[in-house]
Amino acid sequence: MGPLETYFDNASTSPLDPRVFDAMLPFLREECGNAHSVHQLGLRARAAVERAREQVAELVGAEDPAEIVFTSGATESNNWVLQAFPDAAVSAFEHASIRVPAARSGAVVLPHKGLDVVPGPGFQWEDGRRTRNLVSLMAVNNEIGTIWDPKPWRPFADRVHSDLTQAVGKIPVDVRALDLDFASFSAHKFHGPKGIGALYIRGMESIAPLLSGGDQENGLRAGTLNVPAIVGMGEAARIAAAEQPSNFEQAEQLRQITLDSIGNLADFRVNGGHCVSPFILSLSFLGIEGETLVIELDHAGFAISSGAACSAHNREPSAVLAAIEPDDAWRRGTIRISFGRTNTPEAAERLGLHIRHAVQTLQKLKI
Ligand code: PMP
Repeated sequence: MGPLETYFDNASTSPLDPRVFDAMLPFLREECGNAHSVHQLGLRARAAVERAREQVAELVGAEDPAEIVFTSGATESNNWVLQAFPDAAVSAFEHASIRVPAARSGAVVLPHKGLDVVPGPGFQWEDGRRTRNLVSLMAVNNEIGTIWDPKPWRPFADRVHSDLTQAVGKIPVDVRALDLDFASFSAHKFHGPKGIGALYIRGMESIAPLLSGGDQENGLRAGTLNVPAIVGMGEAARIAAAEQPSNFEQAEQLRQITLDSIGNLADFRVNGGHCVSPFILSLSFLGIEGETLVIELDHAGFAISSGAACSAHNREPSAVLAAIEPDDAWRRGTIRISFGRTNTPEAAERLGLHIRHAVQTLQKLKI
């Protein structure tokens, strides 16, 4: 069984699709032009960038490719929006790249009841205002896979932003149907290269530039464009759009196989509620440490995680789990399995059996 078959950490990052690699290669070699140069190499680089912009726009349902601004990824896109609109309200479930800048700028946290983040009847902001400048609610949670709809917040916000990082290229996404003003996402979550992503800006609405000193990206993000990465993101978007239904079905199947092969265990929970992305499977086992299980599985050749990779080295408990689970023992016994194109049913079945065996052993040993 190859290492990519048993790589179940696709929510952290996903393997580059070989077709994406092939599309990028010429731009890492002979197609070396700066996309803003006027010679032939520059013009070809510019054309490739604009083609990629169209492919990304198409994947997320943007009306105009100019609404897509390339960034280094969702962290940058999220930080940008939160810095530009500090009078914000963000959900308790957001990735740290939203929560941290939001806390710094004094943004408030959206109310929630368990996993429910819909404004209740007669909702109003504490200070009596009709709207806040920005509401940010992610579409798919990176730790537990829960799917949310930011639309019910529209009447309470001048602008709505959504972190679509775990949604784009996986579940159907349409920024117009979602009625979003801003959206963030990263290519490496859907088998594209790392270090490239985008901010969707509806109607090129006014936002303070992130970087100045050049007219790239309509003057909003100055700096020489990373042409190979942008081309890779475009190709990854093209593939994701074409293969979305079959990739989704594959993830549903892999998730079910994993759960079936874990079978019935005592003190075991599936997290995320009823409306979850099939690409993420968050499980909690009472009486074990999630991290011990991650290491056990690593020895057996499976890559999974105990939470978000970006906070895996941080001993703080997960803010997402803390928002829904008061009992530390359940939170500590949590793992995240995340599926992608390279996983196979056989690997999912073996993963489930290994988890079953390891949990039973660890629960007996109480480690
Ligand atoms: N938002 C979410 C929901 C994520 O899962 C991630 C990646 N873990 C990010 C933002 C940040 O993406 P990147 O590391 O590509 O900037």
